[in-house]
Amino acid sequence: MITIEKARETIVSRITPLPSEKIPLEQALGRYLAEDIVSQMDIPSWNNSAMDGYAVRVTDIPHAGVRLGIAYEIPAGSLPQGPFPEGSAVKIMTGAPVPPGADAVVKREDTIESEGAVIVNIVPKKSDHIRFAGEDIAKGDLILQKGTLLEAAHIGLLASLRRVMVLCSQRPTVAIIATGNEVADLDEELTENKIPSSNSSTLTSLVRQLGAIPLYLGIARDTKAGLRDKFEQASRADLILTSGGVSMGDYDVVRDVMTEGANSVEFWQVRMKPGKPLAFGIINGIPAIGLPGNPVSTMTSFDQFARPAILKFMGAQTLTLPRLKARLLEAVRGPGDRPHYLRGVLKRCGDELCVASTGPQGSGILSSMARGNCYMIVPEGHRILEQGDLIECEVFHASW
Ligand code: AMP
Ligand code: MG
Repeated sequence: MITIEKARETIVSRITPLPSEKIPLEQALGRYLAEDIVSQMDIPSWNNSAMDGYAVRVTDIPHAGVRLGIAYEIPAGSLPQGPFPEGSAVKIMTGAPVPPGADAVVKREDTIESEGAVIVNIVPKKSDHIRFAGEDIAKGDLILQKGTLLEAAHIGLLASLRRVMVLCSQRPTVAIIATGNEVADLDEELTENKIPSSNSSTLTSLVRQLGAIPLYLGIARDTKAGLRDKFEQASRADLILTSGGVSMGDYDVVRDVMTEGANSVEFWQVRMKPGKPLAFGIINGIPAIGLPGNPVSTMTSFDQFARPAILKFMGAQTLTLPRLKARLLEAVRGPGDRPHYLRGVLKRCGDELCVASTGPQGSGILSSMARGNCYMIVPEGHRILEQGDLIECEVFHASW
């Protein structure tokens, strides 16, 4: 049985990042950048005022109380009319360009304006309240690196640079096949011998959440022919995910089909709890991950193995979940011979992070995934970690 790390390495080594495509900026949220972005301009492009107030020359104001005539006004969106005479000021609004000759802005709160003149009640320093050209981004700066996940701020930066089109990695199509004679999709009648196919919904959602394209192919009944038929329908996918049918049972046929013809099984079973029965192989030339059927195992194994594969297709820089150390609020146990991925609730306790289990940890207890926000990992070689010990956690829910 191989380790989680070795299993992940093997899977990721069989994935080739997809080519890139140019897409409109407004469609780029959640996509991975496939080019380095170097600024062709200074941002801001010109010195501008950080305040509503008056543009001045500091040499004109040696002491508080100086009275300056107002030469003209620059609302935001207007350009300076030109130089202004010594001993005068220019009324300026936030964001408007600083007029030539001015070396500071005095904010309105520090002045009194009357009859076309302004009394300055402070002594300004050079550069006060001026936002200088290029202070956010200078021309030639490398601003965003290839492999960056584009979020709102990145999209805004690209808009500042007037990038209408942006090069992103293509999104992989991920075929999803549920297996089992006992599972029913939402459009099927739930007869008394059936359970809902929750894995169909969790897997479709997990794939979509990563920005990939789910291709749900329905339920294969527990026969080789049924499964073969689904694999045929997956021919245009970049990756195939199955759930269930990969254990020791008489009707667990996923591995059987993985060994037929030119197909191959690269490994079966991983040293982890939950999620031990996992198969990885190549089916009709497509990488295929046979995820275990128990709903928690399906999700845990997805996060450990399918997620990195999907992210590698998309050219992401980091493939694994973020890890944090947190103080245990209760003792937790592991099997000893393999790491235990318990579901936990991570939160702040004073000035450190702490974590508690979500409660019952059976691999069928899907509500533990819904209640939790992280995996708490009892490492291999440990049967117990005590309350107060530090434990490694992998965060799977962003809003903790
Ligand atoms: P299996 O490995 O196929 O024996 O499945 C292990 C357990 O997971 C069984 O209790 C199944 O009923 C359950 N299971 C399998 N597929 C699904 C699914 N699509 N949705 C929910 N539970 C499932
Ligand atoms: Mg089954």
